[in-house]
Amino acid sequence: MVDASGRGSLTQDLLVSIGYPSPEETVIGVDFGYARAIFAIPDDAPADWKGAMTLPNASENSRGALMLPIEGQRWMVGFAGRYGEKPPGDFEGFLAFARQMRTSTVYNAIRRAQPLSRVVRYGFAASVWRHFEKLETFPRGLLPFGDAICRFNPVWGQGMSVAAQEAVLLRRVLGSGDGNPLTTLARSFFAEASELIETPWVSAAIPDFAFPRTEGERPADLDRMLNFGNALTRLAADDPAVHKLTVEVRHLLKPRSALRDPDLVGRVEDIMAEM
Ligand SMILES: Cc1cc2nc3c(=O)[nH]c(=O)nc-3n(C[C@H](O)[C@H](O)[C@H](O)COP(=O)(O)OP(=O)(O)OC[C@H]3O[C@@H](n4cnc5c(N)ncnc54)[C@H](O)[C@@H]3O)c2cc1C
Repeated sequence: MVDASGRGSLTQDLLVSIGYPSPEETVIGVDFGYARAIFAIPDDAPADWKGAMTLPNASENSRGALMLPIEGQRWMVGFAGRYGEKPPGDFEGFLAFARQMRTSTVYNAIRRAQPLSRVVRYGFAASVWRHFEKLETFPRGLLPFGDAICRFNPVWGQGMSVAAQEAVLLRRVLGSGDGNPLTTLARSFFAEASELIETPWVSAAIPDFAFPRTEGERPADLDRMLNFGNALTRLAADDPAVHKLTVEVRHLLKPRSALRDPDLVGRVEDIMAEM
């Protein structure tokens, strides 16, 4: 039985009701809010671009935006913020929020565009990784899956990709070994799933911790990791091969260890020394 119920409370409740231990959890509190609306693209809007993204400056504010053209000559516009800076659900507030971004690109694009939808909001309190791989005992024939194991802050866009990777892993684990695969399924699956989750988890946790109010256990070398990430981004802006590699890691096509290549680390450290 696969528990793909998202929040995973079915598995949690079952473990409690039959007296089994619950998994340890790593929690990163982000108190994140999203708001999204659709606009008609004005006839005179420039078309020679793919998407517009406004990133927050984590030490000062958490407001960010993503605007993408979609089918039917429309823009999908999403705003995000944390704690007291979450985007509101009415159009007046939506536009006012756009004005408070670091740059006016998205505000200037939408201020005269016609809205085609209402503003839809979504809230997300915390990323949660349940460490089923550390449990000594687990019911045979049960398998939590996807978000029921690990829920990622949606701003990093990883949950579906990880669930798909877990599906591939499940097929492989079910096809390996002799006899009844259910006997060892959960243990094998949890062990490999936790390795698979590590890259997207660390990729999300580090930038989330750049925001001072993020709750959770910060890595001891957080400042160095953030500086490394900033320097890597600068290098990627100049070197297409490095840019390709960073995108492949972010899109889970390569493991994070690909960024530990000594030659690459040396080049990034040179930039860090100048920052
Ligand atoms: C706003 C937002 C944006 C996101 N953007 C991205 C992105 O760009 N890229 C990406 O990879 N991921 C993204 N994600 C994450 C992604 O949506 C999730 O990681 C993914 O959907 C998890 O899949 P799942 O099957 O584990 O759970 P879910 O998709 O949550 O599915 C769980 C299903 O189980 C049902 N259910 C729950 N309890 C019961 C029950 N008791 N009985 C029967 N049914 C039940 C629910 O109704 C639901 O349909 C985003 C998430 C959010 C919220």
